[in-house]
Amino acid sequence: MVTEQFIGNRDQSLQCNWMQLDMNEHEETAKALKMRLSELRTHVTKVEHELHKPLAADSEDQAIELENQEALEVIEKTEVTEIHQIEATLKRISEGTYGTCVKCGGPIDPKRLKALPTAATCVSCSV
Ligand SMILES: [Zn+2]
Repeated sequence: MVTEQFIGNRDQSLQCNWMQLDMNEHEETAKALKMRLSELRTHVTKVEHELHKPLAADSEDQAIELENQEALEVIEKTEVTEIHQIEATLKRISEGTYGTCVKCGGPIDPKRLKALPTAATCVSCSV
């Protein structure tokens, strides 16, 4: 299990121009990540909508809804984390640092990037 610590600086990633990426070697990766990003954002919006719905008046229904909400909150958290990772990855692609470990500056194994496109560290730094 790899936990990416590099969630990045949100302010910077909002300012940077990854929305208009130039053609580069990671264009396909960027495209796939952007698609995933919009899917995630749509879904998080839906989940948030669900979470803010008023609870049922019936207490049995309420119990079920509260359980559902807990599950939804977990999903939301996971998805928000992934959104941050993708934003940070797109930023690295636009800056030309994609594929370089953020900790040691060494190259990240392309096989690792294929399996985990948002990887910000090489295998040895990920532990
Ligand atoms: Zn490293």
